[in-house]
Amino acid sequence: MDIIKKYGYAIKNSMANPETSLNLIKTGLFFEKFRLSKFRNKTLPPSLQYLNKICVQYILEPLQNSHSSALVNLFAPAELLHAMNIYPLFIEAFSSFLSGFTCEDYFIDYATNCGFSETLCSYHKAFLGAINSGLLPKPRFAITSSMICDANISTFKHTSKQYDIPLYVIDIPYEYSKDAEKYVSVQIKEMVNMMEDVMKKSLDENKLKEVIMRENASLIYRKNFYTSLQTKYFPNTLTLEMYKLFASHVAIGREETYTFYKMQAKDIKTFKESKSKKILWVHLLPFYHKLLKNYFNLSEDYQLLTCDFNFDYMDELDYNHPYDALAKKMILNQYNGSFETKAQNILKAAKTLNADGVINFCHWGCKQSTGGTMILKELFKKNNLPFLSIDGDCIDRRNTQDGQIQTRIEAFLEMINTNNRRKVV
Ligand code: SF4
Repeated sequence: MDIIKKYGYAIKNSMANPETSLNLIKTGLFFEKFRLSKFRNKTLPPSLQYLNKICVQYILEPLQNSHSSALVNLFAPAELLHAMNIYPLFIEAFSSFLSGFTCEDYFIDYATNCGFSETLCSYHKAFLGAINSGLLPKPRFAITSSMICDANISTFKHTSKQYDIPLYVIDIPYEYSKDAEKYVSVQIKEMVNMMEDVMKKSLDENKLKEVIMRENASLIYRKNFYTSLQTKYFPNTLTLEMYKLFASHVAIGREETYTFYKMQAKDIKTFKESKSKKILWVHLLPFYHKLLKNYFNLSEDYQLLTCDFNFDYMDELDYNHPYDALAKKMILNQYNGSFETKAQNILKAAKTLNADGVINFCHWGCKQSTGGTMILKELFKKNNLPFLSIDGDCIDRRNTQDGQIQTRIEAFLEMINTNNRRKVV
């Protein structure tokens, strides 16, 4: 049995006393961060080594400092939290780490034994299992929004009730207009009042401006990176692409994230022109999946470009009107509104990045991604760009059909290899 599995067993076997399991998780993360700081991984450029380290730090911080932490989802306006020195505990990431520790099965089963539906997204099931079993330390409050994820609001409501903590749900209109922006901006201000009440401290608006200015500066490096990625090879793995969700969302505006983007934009310039077949990924990535890891992790044959969540909003924010800017950012996120907008954005990225193929991963229980698959399929067919949609589970190892994925991926990659058409430009 490998060391990670032993560690996962230890976490599960200690759940009679959840505090012991939590301490095991914190100790493991602490040593992992130490290891990543002290020992270089020569297969990765410095920026990606740094990303590994800061993402372990980002998940560890709210666990070590629960009195200064808040629950968020991927799309919450975390800039406000950074400006108030509150650590966001990002629920999808926490569930992913449980899977990384190979103990997701325990928490998923815990949730279903408590009566949560088997068909619920496994990110939510694992998280709810961690809540109901008492694994997670109590944060101070929770914030989420009505956008994209249909499971979010009920998970956050349950958590807020279970832990007796305040919850703010931002209602996001489907389409952008100046009125819609005002509507969301007013809610964000109200949410800040709630945060100030709970934390007994005020938001320093100058600090918020600083965070947003850093976000804008990071955006310049992100755009530079994507420009280089049009022609250059750059190593990637399924896990690193998931880690980049911290950088592009929950940890955006932080100093460390800015440093990462700056380093990444510099690193890619040192790489050669890409001769790989280039794959654009849609939706989240099953980072544990052996076969997919074999095909894509650090592969020069099949270069994993990026996933669509990592470019779902790429506009500068007006730091002089931070509430309006955050409202606009949420409404105009490509995942808000009609699926057609998202599909067009993915197509545009596939063309710009010279992708040879697009893989859409339908994660178990995620209705928005499954529901939009046919729209994507039709659009890519019309645009003569190879497209594959596969079903699986991003965190629950028991819920993946390896044989089916293998057959379909092999056929798809073979098609890409023999495809002599000109790349879409
Ligand atoms: S995968 Fe889908 S259902 Fe699950 S958290 Fe993400 S958006 Fe929600």
